[in-house]
Amino acid sequence: MQPSDSAPPRLLMQQEISPSRIDTDAAEQIWLHLCDHLQGILPEQAFATWFRPIRPVGFDRQTLSVQVPSRFYYDWIEGHYAPLLEKALDETLGRDGRLVYLLPDKDDGDGFDAQPITVRENPVSATMTGHETSPSGLNPRYRFDTFIEGPPNRFARAAALAVSRSPGTTSYNPLLIYGGVGLGKTHLLQAIGHETQRVSPRHRVLYISSERFTQDFVDSIKKNRADVFSQRYRAVDLLLVDDVQFLVGRERTQMEFFHTFNALHQDGKQIVLTSDKPPRELDGLDERLVSRFGWGLVCDIGPPDYDTRIAIIQTYAEEEGVSLDPEISDYLAQHFTRNVRELQGALVRLVAHASLSGTDLTLSLARQALHDLIDQRERRVDLDLVQRVVADHFNVPPDLLAAKIRTQQIARVRMIAMALSLRLTGLSLKQVGIHFGKRDHTTVLHARQRVREWMEKDPEFSATIEKLISRIENESE
Ligand code: ADP
Ligand code: MG
Repeated sequence: MQPSDSAPPRLLMQQEISPSRIDTDAAEQIWLHLCDHLQGILPEQAFATWFRPIRPVGFDRQTLSVQVPSRFYYDWIEGHYAPLLEKALDETLGRDGRLVYLLPDKDDGDGFDAQPITVRENPVSATMTGHETSPSGLNPRYRFDTFIEGPPNRFARAAALAVSRSPGTTSYNPLLIYGGVGLGKTHLLQAIGHETQRVSPRHRVLYISSERFTQDFVDSIKKNRADVFSQRYRAVDLLLVDDVQFLVGRERTQMEFFHTFNALHQDGKQIVLTSDKPPRELDGLDERLVSRFGWGLVCDIGPPDYDTRIAIIQTYAEEEGVSLDPEISDYLAQHFTRNVRELQGALVRLVAHASLSGTDLTLSLARQALHDLIDQRERRVDLDLVQRVVADHFNVPPDLLAAKIRTQQIARVRMIAMALSLRLTGLSLKQVGIHFGKRDHTTVLHARQRVREWMEKDPEFSATIEKLISRIENESE
């Protein structure tokens, strides 16, 4: 899709950037405008981490080229901020504005000899692959071979793989994968797209977020082209719809989606959906859709367990060409437990710190670079919540945790609650002890030790602890 020549001149180009200055100055100015826009929307921390390190390197015919420090940044930005960037581009350059990301050439010291890795066009419509346009519409990183398998995602991954090997012919139609943010739903969904294209190149694959689906639908109505819209969606062999929770509360779009779904399903075409909740819990979703979403296979994807986190960290570190001490991997895996996105964010931050300061990656650098991220997350958890969740999980009254009772069952639950309080609240041994019936700090220390041992010995217990941690963290948001 090239920008059309007939598009009206953009305001900003005319007023502030003389067309003769098609150079880095212009790039700089445009980038500053984009940044202004982004800064107005993003939390300072996010802006500083992801956008400050980017350098504008050129501007030519509505195309701004920027250099990102690494592929990691690119993936992150595209994964998280694409809609924002599109909007910012719109405001800055108008409808034909485009953004090209450049990756530094690792072998080249000055970094300017960069190779483009993607072009983001604006406006971007749904990405059609297969017969239609560019085969690279899917994020090239989101493939099965870059997806790390672990107990919490094994089932979803296996189902995804089965579907991509024989789309439309398994009983998993639709396949719906649900789970919290940053757990790999989009990754798996796009992996299905890649794999289907590899195995059955003639299949037409369409990946779309339900927000974009909604947007496209609304636009098509405005332009009186609803039939073109529905033909387009019904002409695919594999429809991948991300984040269907965004259809909630949009009745007309839901109805259109319902018809699309029926048409495809009847033709034996494969549909795969993701959602942040199981369909039944999507309040405001049409009952008919809820029931259709349950026709095939519904499976969940959970937070990665410790070993999966370690594997993910190591794989990403390798990709980035850095070697990580096991104690640093352990530090990351201990502190970033909720989701993969957060874990990657921490790692990117760490690598950026190390390369900016030109120092080696040490544990103390990791602490320094990440302490605010960790503090932000951990300070939020209060001890009452830990006690409540743990007591609830093991079915004991929360008051007993601070009581003098010492039955074996209560003592064990108390130790778990103490160990988790220590880990999640940021309180000292002494403070934690006080909240558990004024017990002394050695008791808390002992509890932490015991829980560690149980976790090492018993994977099931360890999984329970991980689940409790995510539950506590989720409830504290
Ligand atoms: P979601 O769509 O569930 O919010 P994403 O699919 O966007 O999450 O995943 C967030 C990031 O974490 C992506 O960069 C993705 O590649 C990565 N990721 C998630 N799960 C895994 C995994 N099991 N192995 C490797 N990378 C993963
Ligand atoms: Mg997603």
